[in-house]
Amino acid sequence: MFARSLVRLAARSPAGATASSTATATAARAYSSSGLCFDLTDEQRQLQETARRFAADHIIPNAREYDQSAKYPWDIVKAAWETGLMNTHIPAEYGGLGLGALDGAILSEELAYGCSGISTAIEGNNLAEAPLILAANDEQKKKYLGRMTEECLMAAYCVTEPVAGSDVAGIKTTAVKKGDEWVINGQKMWITNGSVANWYYVLARSDPNANAGRAFTCFIVDKDTPGITVGRKEMNMGQRCSDTRGITFEDVVVPDCNRLGAEGEGFKIAMGAFDITRPLVGAGAVGVARRAMDEAARYSLERKTMGKPISEHQAVAFMLADMAIGVETSRLAVWRAAYEIDQGRRNTYYASIAKALASDVANKNATDAVQIFGGNGYNTEYPVEKLMRDAKIFQIYEGTSQIQRMIISRLLLSNY
Ligand SMILES: Cc1cc2nc3c(=O)[nH]c(=O)nc-3n(C[C@H](O)[C@H](O)[C@H](O)COP(=O)(O)OP(=O)(O)OC[C@H]3O[C@@H](n4cnc5c(N)ncnc54)[C@H](O)[C@@H]3O)c2cc1C
Repeated sequence: MFARSLVRLAARSPAGATASSTATATAARAYSSSGLCFDLTDEQRQLQETARRFAADHIIPNAREYDQSAKYPWDIVKAAWETGLMNTHIPAEYGGLGLGALDGAILSEELAYGCSGISTAIEGNNLAEAPLILAANDEQKKKYLGRMTEECLMAAYCVTEPVAGSDVAGIKTTAVKKGDEWVINGQKMWITNGSVANWYYVLARSDPNANAGRAFTCFIVDKDTPGITVGRKEMNMGQRCSDTRGITFEDVVVPDCNRLGAEGEGFKIAMGAFDITRPLVGAGAVGVARRAMDEAARYSLERKTMGKPISEHQAVAFMLADMAIGVETSRLAVWRAAYEIDQGRRNTYYASIAKALASDVANKNATDAVQIFGGNGYNTEYPVEKLMRDAKIFQIYEGTSQIQRMIISRLLLSNY
C-alpha cells in the first residue's frame, strides 16, 4: 500500500518525472525560489510519515531481538522494499522513484530512529548504487540499478582493505586488463552487506605507477563470479545485525563492459559517491540522537530522586536541552548538505560538516542518555546502551570524523 503511495509521490515530484542520467540532475528539486524555507513539501511529509510508521511497526518492535541475535534482518529489509523505502534515489527511467538527497535524509532519519543497525542493512544499497548513479552508462544502469527495483536485492560498496581505510589511495587490490576483460586480485575488508549482496562495486588499482587521481578504476562485479570468497560475519560493537564481511578476489574475471567510468577515474568516482551518501549517513546519526533524547526525556519524567522527577534537577534538564540543541542543529546541517546536492551544486564541504557534526551529536546524546538512565542505562534491559554502541560507528564508517575534519579544513583553507 505504501509502495503505491510512494510511487504516486514520486510521480508528482518534478524530479521523479524528469529523472536524468546524472546524479545531480536526477536529484534536482523544484524548491521555492522565494528564499530560505524550512517547510517540507506535502510529498516529503508523506514520506516522513510513511517511514516513521514503518519504523514504529516493523523496526522498533524487533530491534532488540536483532541486536541480540546479530542475524541479518531479511524480513524487515523485504518489508522496506515492498513499502518502497529502498533504492529511492534510483532514477525513474530505471524503475526507481527518482527521489532527491533531502528526501533520502528525511527517510534515513526515521529508519535509524527505529534502529540504526537495521537501517544500515536497509540503506547499505545507497552507498553501492551511488557510484553507478554518478558514472554508469545507460546499459549498466538498466542492468544493475534496474534489477534493484524489480526484486529485493542488496549490493555492496567494496573499497576498504585491511591495510587501507582512511588512506584510500593506499589500496592494494589490482585490476589487470587482458583483452576485453579485467582480472581482479585483492582483499576487501569491513564490507557492509558483504554476504547478502547481489553485486559489488569494487575499486582496484589499474595502473601501478600513476598517482591516486589516475591509478584506480572501478567495476561492477556480480557476486557469483568465480574467485570471490566471502569471509565470516564480523561481530561488531553495535549495529550488530548489519552484515559486515571481508571479501577476497582471486583471479576474478570481469568483462570490460562492467568497468564503471573511464580507466583511471575510479578514485574520483569512489569519493564522489560520498557527496551523495554522507548526508544520508548524517541523517541516520540524527535519528539515533533524536531517539536517545526521546528515551532520556521520557525516563527523566518518570524517575524520581530527592522527592521529584529527575527532569526537575537542572543538571539533568540541561543535558536534555543540549541533546535538543544537537538534534536540531545537526539536522539543519544534514538538510543543508542534501539541499546543496539536490540543487546540482558540489556539496563536499557541507556533507563532511553534516556527517562530522551529526556523528558527534549521536555519540554525545547516546552517552548522556545512558547517564540520565543511571544504572539502568548500563543494562541491556533498557534501550539506551544499544544506542551508545550503535552510535559509535557513525564516527568511523564513510570516512572517520578525523577525515571529515581534514576535508573541511582543506576546503576552508583553500578560500584564504
Ligand atoms: C561496521 C563497518 C562497516 C563498514 N562498511 C564499509 C563498506 O561497506 N565499504 C567500505 O569500503 N568500507 C566500509 N567500512 C570501512 C570504513 O570506512 C573504515 O573502517 C574507515 O574508513 C576507517 O578506516 P580504517 O578502519 O582503516 O582506520 P584507519 O584509516 O587505520 O584510521 C585509524 C585512525 O587514524 C585516524 N586517521 C587516519 N588517517 C588520518 C589522517 N590523515 N589524519 C588524521 N587522522 C587519521 C582515523 O580517523 C582513525 O581514528 C566499514 C567499517 C566498519 C567498522
